[in-house]
Amino acid sequence: MNLGELQRHLAQTGQPAFRLAQAKRAFYAEFLGGWDDLSTFPKQLRDDLKEAIPWDSLELVTQAVSSRQDTVKVLFSCADGLCIEAVLMRHEAGRNTVCVSSQAGCAMGCKFCATGQGGLKRNLTADEIVEQVIYFARYLKTQDAHVTNIVFMGMGEPFSNYDEVLSAIKLLHDPEGFNLGARHMTVSTCGLVPGIKKLAAEKLQVNLAISLHAANDALRDSLMPVNKLFPLRELMAAVDDYAAATNRKVLFEYLLIDGVNDSDEAAEDLVKLLGHNRRLFQVNLIKYHQTGKFMPSPQDQRERFMQILRDNGILVTFRVSFGEDIDAACGQLAARAKKNS
Ligand code: SF4
Repeated sequence: MNLGELQRHLAQTGQPAFRLAQAKRAFYAEFLGGWDDLSTFPKQLRDDLKEAIPWDSLELVTQAVSSRQDTVKVLFSCADGLCIEAVLMRHEAGRNTVCVSSQAGCAMGCKFCATGQGGLKRNLTADEIVEQVIYFARYLKTQDAHVTNIVFMGMGEPFSNYDEVLSAIKLLHDPEGFNLGARHMTVSTCGLVPGIKKLAAEKLQVNLAISLHAANDALRDSLMPVNKLFPLRELMAAVDDYAAATNRKVLFEYLLIDGVNDSDEAAEDLVKLLGHNRRLFQVNLIKYHQTGKFMPSPQDQRERFMQILRDNGILVTFRVSFGEDIDAACGQLAARAKKNS
C-alpha cells in the first residue's frame, strides 16, 4: 500500500486524520487482506478507496512450499509486470525469517548468482519491499505464527537502493507500522563500502551481513566484480568501523563452491581476514545451490573447511539448506519463470 498516496487521498476527500492510522494498523499490524475487510470504515469510503488506492501493489504469481514444509518461496509480479522473489524460512527454534528482494534483478554480476546473470531491471520501492514481508505475515497469521526476522538477502544489492531500503527498514521498525525490532533485521551487501558507512551512521542497530565468498582479492575479483571497486582491505576497514559503532555481530556469508573457494588454503585466508575480531565476526557457511557451471562443495570438504575455522577460534555456523526442492536460492525461481515464459 502506498501510504503517501493514501494520506493525500484521505485529506483531499475530507476524511478525519484517524482514518490513516486505522488503515495503517489494518495493513501493517492486523494483516487484513483488502479494503473490504476494514469494517471500521463506512462502505462508501471502502468502495471509494478500492477504486483510488490499491491495497497491494504486488500480485502473487506462484508459491512453492518445500517438502519439509519449512520453506515457502513466492514469485510476485509488480504493477509494471517485473517479477521478484521472497522466501519464508521456518526454523525449528520457532523463528520465522523472511528474505526480501530490494531490486528487480541486480547489476553486481556475481558469477555464481542466478540474479546477477540477468542484470538490473529497476529498484524496488519501500512499499514493494515491505509488502513482501506483509504477504508472509498474512500467511503466518493463518497458522497463529508471525514474522520474527527479516533479511535483505533476496534479489538485488540493498545498498544500490539505499534510500528505499532505509525507508522500508523504518516502516518495518515503526511502532505504528510493522513494529519489528531493528536487531531482528539484517542487511546483506556484496561489499558496497559507502553503504556500510552510511548505515553505520544511522545508529539503527540493524545487523550487517557481508556476502564474502572469498577471502583473498584475486579469487574475490574473479567471482565478484564489486571487489575491484572495493577490495578486501577497504571492505574490512568499513566493517571494522561498523562493528565498533554498533557493537553488533557481523555475519560473513560464504557459499562453498566445489574446487573454487573451498580449499584448506581458502579457509586459512578466511582465518587471516577475520581473526582480529573473533568476538563479533561470525562466518555463515552456506551450501551452494547449483547454478550454471558451479557445483556445491562435497560434504567432507565442507566439514574440513568448517573445522579449520573452528580450530582457529572463528565463530562458524553451517546454514541449514532451506528449500532445495523448490529452487530457494536467490534468483532461481525468477530465472526459471523467465525460461518457461
Ligand atoms: S549475489 Fe547478490 S549482489 Fe551478487 S549478483 Fe546476486 S543478488 Fe546481486
